[in-house]
Amino acid sequence: MKTIPLYLEDAYLKEAEATILSITKESDTKWQVVLDQTIFYPRGGGQSTDQGFLSTDTWKGKVSQALLKDDAIIHFIEGSEPPPVGTRVKATLDWERRYLHMRLHSAGHVVDFALHLLGYCPSILLPIKGDHSKKAVIYYQGIVEKDFKEDLEKKIQELLSRNLSFSTRFVSYEELERESIYLQQGLPKNKPLRLLTLQEVGSVADGGTQVKNIAEVGKISILPLEKQEAMTLVHYRLI
Ligand SMILES: [Zn+2]
Repeated sequence: MKTIPLYLEDAYLKEAEATILSITKESDTKWQVVLDQTIFYPRGGGQSTDQGFLSTDTWKGKVSQALLKDDAIIHFIEGSEPPPVGTRVKATLDWERRYLHMRLHSAGHVVDFALHLLGYCPSILLPIKGDHSKKAVIYYQGIVEKDFKEDLEKKIQELLSRNLSFSTRFVSYEELERESIYLQQGLPKNKPLRLLTLQEVGSVADGGTQVKNIAEVGKISILPLEKQEAMTLVHYRLI
């Protein structure tokens, strides 16, 4: 990739240096900046964009969002004109925001792994997409007649009480196919493929940021299950 995604290797980096590769002016106070490497997670895979700042000794711009376009990560900057291409800048994350999004995203996978352990996912309920925002929801193709909300909460509770680690590693498509409990539809072609593993439970493809230990997620509550035609929507919250 043109922009090296540092967050894929280490989701706990709060600051990093980077070099400006290009600047596009949107207006006198809005700019699009591409860096050679970044700690800013670009919105995608159901996880919200990171925010924060880029700065030098004499300039500071607010990063309102980051987006992946082709093989570059574009930082949308609010502020005065950035220093020229080639300048080293310091990137600083809004860590509170990012850490919440990491916990929300990992929580989504805990829900998903719990459904796998209950025997529902992926054979009866196939995950289609997730939204890991404050109003988090996972969309599953398929319907279960039984209301499994309580069983799910119990299984989640059991997982959360075991000090299990989340780990990630880069893999080939073949490895991904072999090791994951299911393959999501439309795996991105422009991102490195990475396997997310919950210790003693299983692995799935994932390109977002995750906490290292399930204990960091905190408590998860499941909202009443929602059925929409042939879909089951599992809403969850951090409490
Ligand atoms: Zn994910």
